[in-house]
Amino acid sequence: MMKHDNPRRERGIEIANKNQFRRIDEHTYKVKSQSSDKEYSVISSESGWNCSCPDHTFRKVCCKHIHAVEFSLQLRKQVESVVINQIDTNRCKFCNSKDIIKKGLRKNKTYNLQVYKCQICNKRFSINLGFERMKASPQVITSAMQLYFTGESLRNVQKFLELQGVKITHKTVWNWIRKYVNLMEKYLEQITPKVGEKWRADELYLKIKGNRKYLYALMDDDTRYWIAKQVSDNKVVDDISQMLADGKEITGKKPSVFITDGANNFVNAWRSEYRQKNSFDKKTEHIRHIHFKEDNNNNKMERLNGEIRDREKVMRSLKRVDSPILSGMQIHHNFIRSHMALDGKTPSDMAGIKIEGDNKWITLIQNASKS
Ligand SMILES: [Zn+2]
Ligand SMILES: [Zn+2]
Repeated sequence: MMKHDNPRRERGIEIANKNQFRRIDEHTYKVKSQSSDKEYSVISSESGWNCSCPDHTFRKVCCKHIHAVEFSLQLRKQVESVVINQIDTNRCKFCNSKDIIKKGLRKNKTYNLQVYKCQICNKRFSINLGFERMKASPQVITSAMQLYFTGESLRNVQKFLELQGVKITHKTVWNWIRKYVNLMEKYLEQITPKVGEKWRADELYLKIKGNRKYLYALMDDDTRYWIAKQVSDNKVVDDISQMLADGKEITGKKPSVFITDGANNFVNAWRSEYRQKNSFDKKTEHIRHIHFKEDNNNNKMERLNGEIRDREKVMRSLKRVDSPILSGMQIHHNFIRSHMALDGKTPSDMAGIKIEGDNKWITLIQNASKS
């Protein structure tokens, strides 16, 4: 099930990414030819987009120029949503002036912090938003989180940092993770993801100190956004309506279609949370889905299964289901990890929440600290 089975679409995405087009108005675009200096006109009509290039004119196909326009429209929709910007560290902390100069380094225990002097108010300061009084730099701390949430154990992370000359215990790594996951989680809760109409719920097993726990996950099909979760000890009697209620609260809507493997707890939860209550209520169809190995529709859930299975070894070293781990995994899945099936985008990109900067952990942590 390759995503890149359409070379015209692929070329179109390239054109859009390189910004080789101009928007004239909402019905008209000019797209650069890839083989000459010409520009082709892509114009909307009742039957869809038309392009003046030979490919479209003679073959009547959806050419790369039309794909470029369609892709940029998709992006545009996302841009109109939430953008979490990098914090501007080129301004004075006190008077917000841009007129600041570097004025030596302040030595921290393990790293040096740039000190600035403001030319307007004369104050000296360093900019370390979100990471004040930490024993390590933002880069080290976020690297530790990245390693941990891609499957390394706390001890491996600690060893890795030791090789970088950063001496801390694995307990310190854990404290960083707990502190920052909680901080980011509170901040991100205020933002509504724009998810699709088809949601899927499934359960995954977790073994923690030999005890079997169940993690339930509610995912959106279109964006792969992991909407909500619930953990419990016992599969048979589990009431998971809380997770479905959370899903409504988090996204501000109900899906049109809710897909599960048909286990009773899913049926009961759907009945109490999503079933149409009256004719004004939105209808949510419940599809009781039987698992087949060959079934592509299940890949989305299977992949999350894989992500979590990788963690099992690591999690066994913890005494209980600490919510920072699962919340951290959810943040990593939604906001940090780029997914092949989404053309390298994150689920949050697809759900209209764009996080800027090369280090999204830092962008998130600084914005969370600021708010
Ligand atoms: Zn064309
Ligand atoms: Zn100032």
